[in-house]
Amino acid sequence: MSKALPIAVLAGDGIGPEVMIEARKVLDRIAEIYGLTFSFDEKLVGGAAYDAHGHPLPPETIAACEAAEAILFGSVGGPKWESLPADLQPERGALLPLRKHFGLFANLRPAVCFPALTHASPVKEDRIAGGFDVLCVRELTGGLYFGQPKSIEVRDGEKVAIDTMIYKQSEIERIAHVAFAAARERGKKVTSIDKANVLQNGILWRQTVTAVAAEYPDVTLDHLYVDNAAMQLIARPKQFDVVLAENLFGDILSDEMAMITGSLGMLASASLGQSKGGGLYFGLFEPSGGSAPDIAGQGIANPIAQILSAAMMLRFSFGLHEAAAAINAAVKSVIDVGFRTGDIYTGDEGQQKVGTAAMGDAIVARIK
Ligand code: NAD
Repeated sequence: MSKALPIAVLAGDGIGPEVMIEARKVLDRIAEIYGLTFSFDEKLVGGAAYDAHGHPLPPETIAACEAAEAILFGSVGGPKWESLPADLQPERGALLPLRKHFGLFANLRPAVCFPALTHASPVKEDRIAGGFDVLCVRELTGGLYFGQPKSIEVRDGEKVAIDTMIYKQSEIERIAHVAFAAARERGKKVTSIDKANVLQNGILWRQTVTAVAAEYPDVTLDHLYVDNAAMQLIARPKQFDVVLAENLFGDILSDEMAMITGSLGMLASASLGQSKGGGLYFGLFEPSGGSAPDIAGQGIANPIAQILSAAMMLRFSFGLHEAAAAINAAVKSVIDVGFRTGDIYTGDEGQQKVGTAAMGDAIVARIK
C-alpha cells in the first residue's frame, strides 16, 4: 500500500459539509483507481467550531492542518455568527488567520466557462463561443492591503487616510514563478497586470516578471495595464490563459472573471504557501463562493466547485496531474450530458435537474 497522503478536511458551515461529502466520494474513487491512500483528518472550523469550542479556529484544527500536506476547505459563515466580535466571526476569525498562519501567498482562481454553459455568462455568446478557461494568479500577502504605514490621521486640521503599496522583488519573483509554472501546464501564456505608467510598484513588477520569464522560454509573456485588462476580460476573455496580478488588482480582476463565467457554484480556488520543490506546495483549497445559507440543508447545492478544489489539491499539493485531469474531465462530461443543479439549470431540452448527491454520483461514475 502506498504512503498515506495526509489531508485536513475543514467542511465548515452552510453548504460546506454537504458539498464536502461529494468531494470525499470523488477522492475515494481516485484512490481506488490510482492505488492511492488518503488520510483524512476532519475538523470543525468557522461557525460550527465556534458553537462547539467557543472559537472559529480552535487549536486542534490548526494542529490538524499543520500535520497535513494540504487543507481541503468548505466554506464558513452565516447569519447566526454575524454579530460576534470580529475576531470570533467565521471568516475573519478562521479563514484569514489560516492564510496568515501558513503564509499562503499565491491565490489561484480558475475562471472556467464550460462550452455548454456559455448562455449563463453575462458576456455575449458570440464572444465566448466554445467557452473559456482563464487562471488568475493573485499575490495574496503583500501590496496595498498589508503595507505600512496604514492609518487615518489628522493633518492640517482634516482627516487623511494612508495606505502603503510596497512589494519586495523577492515577493514578485515568488508569485511570478507560480504563474509561469502553472502556464506551462496549460496554454503557455502569462499576461502580467500592472500600472507601470503611474506606479513605481508597477515598474518593479514589470521588470521582475520580465526577468523571471527568461527562465520559462516555452511560455509567452505579455503585459497589460490593469484598466485595459478589466476591459479586455469582458471584450475578449478567450485571449487569456494565465493572468498574473498583485494583491489589489488580482482581488478585483478575479471577481470580474468569476462573474463572466456565470456560475459561482462551479469555481474552485487554491491558496498556496511554501514551495516543497518540484512544483508542489502546501495549500488550502476551497470553492470561490461562500456558505450559501439561503440553500443550506436542502441538498440542492452545486458540489462542483468543491470537487474541482479537490482536483486542484491533487495537482498542486501532491503532483497528481493525471488524477486531477480525470476529475476535470468527469465534471465536463456530466455538464455535457445535461446534469444540472438548480443554480445552472435553465430548463432547456436535454437537461436533467439533480441535487447535490446525484451530481456527485454522476461525476464519480465518469472518473476513468
Ligand atoms: P455565497 O457565495 O455564499 O452565495 C451567493 C449566492 O450564490 C447565493 O444565492 C447562493 O445560494 C449561491 N451559491 C453559492 N455557492 C453555491 C453552490 N455551490 N451551489 C449553488 N448555489 C451557490 O455568498 P454570500 O451570500 O455573500 O455569503 C454567505 C455567507 O458565506 C456569508 O456568511 C459570507 O461571509 C460567507 N462567505 C464565506 C466565504 C468563505 O468561506 N471563503 C466566501 C464568501 C462568503
